Amino acid sequence: MIELFNLTHKQLIEVVEQNGFKKFRGNQIFEWIYAKTEFDFEKMTNISKQNRKEMAKIFSITPLKTPQIFIAPDKTEKYRFELDDGNIIETVLIPEKKRNTLCISTQAGCALKCSFCRTGSLGFARNLTVKEIVYQVIFAQKHLKKRNEKVNNIVFMGMGEPLLNFENTIDAISLIHDTQGLDFSNRRITVSTAGIIDKIIPLGEKTDGVNLAVSLHAADDETRSKIMPVNKTNPLKNLLNVLAKYPAHKRKRIVLEYILLKDINMREKDAKNLVKIAKKLNAKINLIPFNPFPGTIFEPASQEEMLAFQKLLIDRHATALMRKSRGGEKLAACGQLGLIKSNKI
Ligand code: SAH
Repeated sequence: MIELFNLTHKQLIEVVEQNGFKKFRGNQIFEWIYAKTEFDFEKMTNISKQNRKEMAKIFSITPLKTPQIFIAPDKTEKYRFELDDGNIIETVLIPEKKRNTLCISTQAGCALKCSFCRTGSLGFARNLTVKEIVYQVIFAQKHLKKRNEKVNNIVFMGMGEPLLNFENTIDAISLIHDTQGLDFSNRRITVSTAGIIDKIIPLGEKTDGVNLAVSLHAADDETRSKIMPVNKTNPLKNLLNVLAKYPAHKRKRIVLEYILLKDINMREKDAKNLVKIAKKLNAKINLIPFNPFPGTIFEPASQEEMLAFQKLLIDRHATALMRKSRGGEKLAACGQLGLIKSNKI
């Protein structure tokens, strides 16, 4: 059996053609899988019965196992998928007034060990395949269709570092983009990175300028290296140089994510440095309240402290929004994702 998930659009058409079917049949199958989220050949009614029968003998379209679904009181939904090898990945749906944002994972676990992140504290298991990345989107679309909703935005901010699973992330984005399939334009996709310098420009080039968010979290090397080991090999100066050259879409600004950690990165000099960086890059700042998790050494800042820090930024004429923390009750919030081969929440 040839598994059709995991193939790019082009590869799928080639494989279908190589097996004796007309070229346009490949396109039809592609549309069924990605635009209509239908995986059963029997139901692909614009293909002749005879063809459908033959296809079902040669090809398989195997979805991931149905995930466990958790719904937090604020309506944030967490989908927990168990992969074939027992690894667990998580996807989070964040409903806002008029749109649904889907936060997807690119790795099982994460190798970066950022000290404030639960996923990092659990270690790295493996890269996700293209299918495992894209299926998170397909599942959510199929699931939401039942209640007449859909995913509006996709953010690569779940488990893992997308740029350390570069090829699969790029192929997944091309499938998510595809106008014959899921059809998400660049404006609706954001990739978040902890700052893997040599992969940032290639990401922009290969995706034609997908939105970029950078987990900055500190505005000087000393503080940043303390909380994000990745900074030791990807120091700020080099990171900022590369970000300045990122081929983003014209009206889209880079987002600098900045998690608010009490007594760590919220001094006045942090605000000054952060504003300097944001201005240089013409970037927006997204302040993230720290979401605690069992065993963490960090403390969340109080509401007053967070607002005071935000004011320091705004007074210096930076664009600084505060992210509302969502889904915390079900450990579905930023930095709380992640169990590897375990069932506990
Ligand atoms: N590796 C990528 C993608 C993961 S994004 C990256 O680092 O950008 C996950 C986002 O949640 C990042 O901005 C991350 O820094 C943030 N985050 C991690 N732990 C968190 C926590 N405990 N509370 C709030 N945000 C957290």
